[in-house]
Amino acid sequence: VGQDNANYLLSLIRTIPGFPKEGINFRDFMPVLADAKGLSILIDALAKALPVSVDDFDAIAGLESRGFLIGAPLAVRLGKGFVAIRKAGKLPPPTKRMEYSLEYGTAAIEIEDEAIRPGERVLVVDDLIATGGTAVAAQKLIEGHGAVVAGFSFVMELTGIPTPDAIERCRRSSLLTMP
Ligand code: AMP
Repeated sequence: VGQDNANYLLSLIRTIPGFPKEGINFRDFMPVLADAKGLSILIDALAKALPVSVDDFDAIAGLESRGFLIGAPLAVRLGKGFVAIRKAGKLPPPTKRMEYSLEYGTAAIEIEDEAIRPGERVLVVDDLIATGGTAVAAQKLIEGHGAVVAGFSFVMELTGIPTPDAIERCRRSSLLTMP
């Protein structure tokens, strides 16, 4: 990213202690998107920090919902298509679903069957990786579809939380790391 750009992005990211529940330091990157210079630095930096060469993936998949906000502009920038991985129940059938566990209970994500073809190599993007549970579910969903995860691009990565082995084995880039 470059130290100046990293500092500029960090100056715009808001930290909200105790949101959405106690014990979580919520990292809000919406002010980066609202700032013309911040948005351009962000998309530029994601494009430069790709975990794999631009020729080594076919499409970008964004995780609902903040992954959409960076995934689509990054896809335009790199000349790729964009695929939405949504929370269950939002996409019209036929879809594939993957359930995963949260701290309390379970969640599920879905992808439209037509969105990815078997054998396609997909770059998965999201704003932040914490436990990596969402990323693992996305990987299983894409692989269950016969496609391949080429890598993961994150804006932020939380330190001090172990990353699942399945994600450690993948190529990934994170622009900013924070506690
Ligand atoms: P995880 O599955 O634990 O890696 O959580 C990642 C997903 O939850 C991403 O889609 C993030 O947007 C969201 N998330 C988790 N922790 C935070 C946090 N501290 N601040 C903002 N978003 C978070």
